[in-house]
Amino acid sequence: MSAKFYSKENLQFLLHEVFHVEELCQLEHFKDHTIESFDMMLEAAASLGANHLRPILVEMDRTPPHIENARIKVHPKMRELMKKFGEDGWISMSAPHEFGGQQVPFTILQAVSFIFGAANYSPTAYAFLTTGAAHLIEAFGSKELQEAYIPKMFTGEWQGTMALSEPQAGSSLGDVVTTATLTDKGHYLLKGQKVFISCGDSDAVDNVVHLMLARIEGAPAGTKGISLFVVPRMRPDENGELVFNDVNTAGVFHKMGYHGAPIAHLMMGEKDDCRGFLLGEPHKGLSYMFQMMNEARIGVGTNATSIASAAYYNALEYTKVRAQGRKLTEKDASKPQTLIINHADVKRMLLFQKSVVEGSLSLCLQACKYYDLSKTAPEAEREDNFLKLELLTPMAKSYPAEMSIQTTSAALQCFGGYGFTKEFLAELFFRETRIHTLHEGTTAIHGMDLLGRKVMMQNGKATMLLMQEVMQDIEEAKKYNLLKSYAAVTSNKLVQLQEVSMHLMTVAQTIGPEAYLSDATLYLELFGIITVAWQWLKQGIAVEKLKAANTKDYSAEFLQSKIYALQYFFEYEVPKTEGLITRLKSSNHVTIEAKPEEIL
Ligand SMILES: Cc1cc2nc3c(=O)[nH]c(=O)nc-3n(C[C@H](O)[C@H](O)[C@H](O)COP(=O)(O)OP(=O)(O)OC[C@H]3O[C@@H](n4cnc5c(N)ncnc54)[C@H](O)[C@@H]3O)c2cc1C
Repeated sequence: MSAKFYSKENLQFLLHEVFHVEELCQLEHFKDHTIESFDMMLEAAASLGANHLRPILVEMDRTPPHIENARIKVHPKMRELMKKFGEDGWISMSAPHEFGGQQVPFTILQAVSFIFGAANYSPTAYAFLTTGAAHLIEAFGSKELQEAYIPKMFTGEWQGTMALSEPQAGSSLGDVVTTATLTDKGHYLLKGQKVFISCGDSDAVDNVVHLMLARIEGAPAGTKGISLFVVPRMRPDENGELVFNDVNTAGVFHKMGYHGAPIAHLMMGEKDDCRGFLLGEPHKGLSYMFQMMNEARIGVGTNATSIASAAYYNALEYTKVRAQGRKLTEKDASKPQTLIINHADVKRMLLFQKSVVEGSLSLCLQACKYYDLSKTAPEAEREDNFLKLELLTPMAKSYPAEMSIQTTSAALQCFGGYGFTKEFLAELFFRETRIHTLHEGTTAIHGMDLLGRKVMMQNGKATMLLMQEVMQDIEEAKKYNLLKSYAAVTSNKLVQLQEVSMHLMTVAQTIGPEAYLSDATLYLELFGIITVAWQWLKQGIAVEKLKAANTKDYSAEFLQSKIYALQYFFEYEVPKTEGLITRLKSSNHVTIEAKPEEIL
């Protein structure tokens, strides 16, 4: 097993040289932190990843969760790990001091999640779902709810979930039918079922706290009639004793990967005794839940990148020890075989992975920085950062998710036939990352969110703000010889993106909304490649500055490797936009016109 699952040097480079996280410490909310305290956290995360998470990666994959006596049993180590995540402060790290947290920036939380995820993805779901769920109670819960639930969640004794999906309401959350009936005691009685609830039940914790969407009786149809409830598996009674809250585990899903985390099918109220406690106001539940979903979506992008990172370093190591064939320039068959990394096509696969992994991580950290600034910057700056975050989130979720499928496949390919076997980890990473285009909204849903809502949000203000920032970086990049041509390419891509957007607006007006959104997924892909090109320009600028400063903080090989990856991205990935642009400007609408009965 490869010992390396992420590059510490790269994470440092992104956090310090590209995103200047130290600037966050100047904000009131983060004033107790320093660059040194961030680095200490990342060191501790790396140690936990290497010593506790990575050693059980394969074991977890080979022993998926199963049902015993109507409860889900998970890997025995998970209980110990949840305790550790709690005791060491990982679950509460970003929470405000008043809730016992450390007020660590979301950027650092995601950097930690990246390290953990690269070591072993599944355990991170337990910890950070709990963080997100507790965060909702912090934001919208009454004092009683906060006191009753948050402390136990932060110690890792209780698990948090997001319980949205139902059989008929997956992508379409407006169709949630779980009901909530108000009682004269002030709580609600819930009835219905939820499917696919991550960490929805397990013996790793004493209790599970579901943040659940349901419809109060008589509420309007659609998304405007959905409310958010705290629904514990075990509820504290008047004496503080835990009693069963009529949340039954109907089953566990058997998945292709991500085996360490249990995905539950839940039935609520079979005995009419499932109590739910309303968060915030009635009917506003989906908008509240978006807080958790938006954090989780950036988390999905980060985790997809983390698995792709682990797959990359695993493959890189193999290509440096596996000998096969000879260089095309070597005609003498008696000479020893060459290492496969010497073949251009193998280097192509490696640079593909590196440019996508490091570009994706940069994109996620960009979103994190907007997130932090949107919450904690001086009041006047928050709105603009929020708008940029809103616009960037579909790309930060979907680009890494989609591309990690391709990069983990390329990693597997580096192993040749051995990659297809369970002797190596390549097949595990390939299976493990496949979830990310599905949960937290499928790629199609994010495409429609981007094109149908976000690009034109506030008359296109978010788009304008983001483009202005990209243009500033393009201007900066033009100062460096190495980056000049790539800056020009990025500038041209922005113009083309705008042309595509204008074309699609005309389609919306002349043909209608279906034609407008029919290729929203491809629009998202185009936007994603362009935003990652921007991230590579930013990294290029940072490299050039470090070179000019004659830095000793980064090795010459590291900086050169960055330049190779940057070149690769612009030379191999950015040209893929041409096909997307051609398609998005086409007047052919086969996907609308094709009749279902004639698709055979
Ligand atoms: C491992 C795992 C963990 C999960 N964890 C959670 C969790 O913790 N909490 C939770 O609530 N849910 C969870 N989910 C559920 C997940 O969010 C849903 O599976 C997802 O939203 C898709 O819903 P669906 O499966 O019903 O597919 P569908 O909505 O039926 O979609 C099927 C296909 O149709 C496409 N499609 C659907 N509607 C449209 C449309 N309007 N336009 C274009 N295309 C469309 C989709 O993109 C997809 O390709 C999890 C799922 C999995 C597999």
